Formats: sequence, C-alpha cells, structure tokens
Amino acid sequence: MTVKDHLAEIEDKLRQACEKSNRKRDEITVIGVTKYVTIERTKELLEAGIHQLGENRAEELEHKYSEINDNASWHFIGTLQSRKVKDVIEKVSAIHSLDRFSVAKQINKRVEKPMDCFIQVNVSGEEAKHGLKIDEVLPFIESLSGYENVHIKGLMTMAPHVEDEDEIRHVFRELRELRDEIQGQQFAHAPCHDLSMGMSNDYEIAVEEGATHIRLGSILVGSD
Ligand SMILES: *Cc1c(COP(=O)(O)O)cnc(C)c1O
Repeated sequence: MTVKDHLAEIEDKLRQACEKSNRKRDEITVIGVTKYVTIERTKELLEAGIHQLGENRAEELEHKYSEINDNASWHFIGTLQSRKVKDVIEKVSAIHSLDRFSVAKQINKRVEKPMDCFIQVNVSGEEAKHGLKIDEVLPFIESLSGYENVHIKGLMTMAPHVEDEDEIRHVFRELRELRDEIQGQQFAHAPCHDLSMGMSNDYEIAVEEGATHIRLGSILVGSD
C-alpha cells in the first residue's frame, strides 16, 4: 500500500477519535517516523502531505537529512547522548526525548535560539524505559530555568505494549495531568502545552486523551 492509502485510513480514525473526545483535528500533528524505511519511502510521506518527520538515531537522521531537508522538519525522538547533541541539533526542529541535565546543557550551549524540547516521562515505570519518573519532572524543569535556549514545549511518553486499553489510557491520562500541573506553574521557560504521545498501536487512545503530536511509524510507512 502507498503512504497515501495508509494516511487516508489513519485520517478516518483520527476524525473519529476527535469527534469522540470533542477535539479538533488541527490540534494534532502527525509525525511520520521513518526509522524503518528508505529515503525513497520517506519522500512518499512528503508527497502525501506529511512534512513533520521523526528519527530516533543520530546517524540515520544525518543520512536522511542530507537528502531531505527543505520542505521537511525533523524531530529527534530517540535517546540522545550528550556527545551526539552537536550532530543533530542544527537539523531538528524539536527534541522529544529530553531526560538528562547533561543533554540539556549541551543543547543550551549549541543553539542560538531556543530549541523546542519535550521531556520524556516513564509514566509506566517499566525498568527498560528511558525517561524521568513522574515525580522527577517538576524538579528537572525547575533546574533548567537558567537555560534560556532550552524551551520546554511539552511532555513525551511511550505507553507499554499491552492489550489492555485501560492500562494504556491510564498512562496517557497521567501524562496529561502532569502537563496540567506544570502549566499551572506558568514557568516562562516551560509553557509545556504539548503532549507527544501515541504510536501505531495506540494513537487513537492518545488523541482521545489529549495528544498534540502522534508519532506514527509502521502503520503509516510500513516497516520493511
Ligand atoms: C519507533 C518509534 C515510534 C513509531 O513506532 P510505531 O509503533 O512503528 O508507530 C514512535 N516513537 C518512538 C520514540 C519510536 O522510537
């Protein structure tokens, strides 16, 4: 199937999820995750009208960016080591995986204007997952107040891979509640309006729970 075909089905489901939760479709940005696919397939995303693209590894981002940069905006969604910040920072419009002070420090140092960052939160508490625990997020944000080039645009999470929809919904809801709490603090450096949550398996639930950015890979471009 072409990316356009996949996208048509996804748009149908997005509309339904928006109706169900009384939201507007234009509150949600679809990020096409290209980590599984070639540059050719990535270009199909652009033709289908998806210009927000996501990669999770620095090398692959650099490779794809060298071919695809005008007309596209890249999001870094994977774990970022502080020594790799310099390789990706000029190529991306947002970092979705901030969970370490050392990385924030590098970002702050290497950009000329504030970089949009999402703090990755390990809501489910799974051992293998990256991200801060819920109760670590507020102190982390407070510690970044002197870093004027680190702009906390929102929070990001990955739900566990489970069948139980309620369990997934609960994770997204907790992230939204944390977002609301942070917004209430009215930090100048952390407006924290956005929620990057929802992937191929669970994006409809994420939208119902308030996602502003959904990161879609396999369901949109396939995984060959
Ligand atoms: C791979 C990846 C995605 C997309 O995964 P799919 O399940 O294929 O949609 C989204 N977010 C992150 C952080 C990823 O690493």
